Amino acid sequence: MDTHEYNADEITVLWKPKVCIRAGVCVKMLPKVYNPIDRPWIKTENATAEELKDQITKCPSGALSYKLNS
Ligand code: SF4
Repeated sequence: MDTHEYNADEITVLWKPKVCIRAGVCVKMLPKVYNPIDRPWIKTENATAEELKDQITKCPSGALSYKLNS
């Protein structure tokens, strides 16, 4: 499935647009990172890896996930 990758220092955020239900949980939790009208719409540099991980686990659809950079 189509997956977009957004690289940060410690982690890479993965987003599957076809799974996203546009619930906006990510936008409400981290508005400096997630801005649907901007490109790229996910700006990983505006939060810490911990903040990103905490938010990603709360995505209700599973569209967001992450992998640790080695
Ligand atoms: S929280 Fe998940 S489902 Fe909701 S808009 Fe963000 S990525 Fe999409």
